[in-house]
Amino acid sequence: MVSRDEPAPLEVDLGAPPAIPEVARTRVMELLTDGCLHRYAEARNIGEEVSALEREFAAFLGRKYAIGVNSCGSTMFLSLMASGVVPGAKVLMNGFTLAPVPGAIAHAGAVHVLVDITDDLVIDLGDLDAKARATGAKHLLLSHMRGHIADMDAVVDICRRRGITLVEDCAHTLGASWAGRPTGTFGAIGCFSFQSYKHINTGEGGMLVTDDADIAARAILYSGSYMLYGQHEARPPTEAFERWKLITPNFSLRMSSLVAALARAQLPLIEERAQRWNDSHDRIAAGLSHMVGVRLPRRPQAEGYVQSSIQFAVSGLGNRAFATFLDGCRTKGVFIKWFGAKEPAGYTSQSHSWAYIANLHTPANTARALERLCDIRIPLSLEPVHCGQLVAIVEWELARARTL
Ligand SMILES: *Cc1c(COP(=O)(O)O)cnc(C)c1O
Repeated sequence: MVSRDEPAPLEVDLGAPPAIPEVARTRVMELLTDGCLHRYAEARNIGEEVSALEREFAAFLGRKYAIGVNSCGSTMFLSLMASGVVPGAKVLMNGFTLAPVPGAIAHAGAVHVLVDITDDLVIDLGDLDAKARATGAKHLLLSHMRGHIADMDAVVDICRRRGITLVEDCAHTLGASWAGRPTGTFGAIGCFSFQSYKHINTGEGGMLVTDDADIAARAILYSGSYMLYGQHEARPPTEAFERWKLITPNFSLRMSSLVAALARAQLPLIEERAQRWNDSHDRIAAGLSHMVGVRLPRRPQAEGYVQSSIQFAVSGLGNRAFATFLDGCRTKGVFIKWFGAKEPAGYTSQSHSWAYIANLHTPANTARALERLCDIRIPLSLEPVHCGQLVAIVEWELARARTL
């Protein structure tokens, strides 16, 4: 039964990207005035913006090397190439992720091996071990999808035992950690996104981090450094470049100075942003947790999350009632992404929408966990009062859908 008055629509744009700080806009204008937008220069080193960001980003995470490129998708592709994935090689990936992840594996000419997820939206460790053994795959491209972090000690242990190179997709976990250690430092390589709707907004951009000198040198050369790799501040020793410079193609995936200027101004804000995001997330989660037929993923103590979105599964609604629920929320300004839809829409995707992959089977629990999974983006502009309004709208629309 629907009680209380029908809530008014939410007056906040849930899709709003993080604001660009004043200092970044000033720096961008300086660069535009100079015209020095490319990261490399032949005669003098003018590319200091990207190089400085790489140094600062590596220090932020506590890794030796950071390499800025044009997207996180590119960092994942470069990670596979630079860590020895050859055409036809098998790459493990969790079944719940965004389209650029299977895209990066396809880009490298490799073969996808989908691993199941749990109801808590992280990779299923039992299935990971079983698929690793059955396929002999030597690479895992692990997405901390929508900010949910698996037991990384267990993941690392399985990878070590099976001789698997771990690449972490941290597009949703900049600033997040497991047992106090930042994501992006467990695997051989960590990949980060500066796309507008992630934790740093530069429009497009990606950052690859690693401690491995050969991987770093190869990634720099692949990214399109020409023979100007000496202009990278956070770079491996010259011997590493000597080994690879003549046998590594240039894929032209560089980061521009403008992107670096935008990112440099936002990196110091991550902690503050994380607090704001988590504050909103925890408020909304608390409100949702009381509702009958709503399940939030469990979050282990060790998980230091940074949630710029919230996920919850709804049970007890048929297809028509569920569609009515989503529509009702949308008309009240609460846009819910539905990863379980038969047809992918907007940013959502799941394995049946990657039909270019031969013989692909959606793992059973991935399909089940996504079937009624709702996902709401949390903009930094959300105030506590909006969180309450959002919860009230979800509750009201859910109650209405249950009467159908
Ligand atoms: C956005 C996203 C990516 C890709 O990032 P781009 O910078 O847009 O290439 C990869 N993985 C996940 C989980 C993402 O959400």
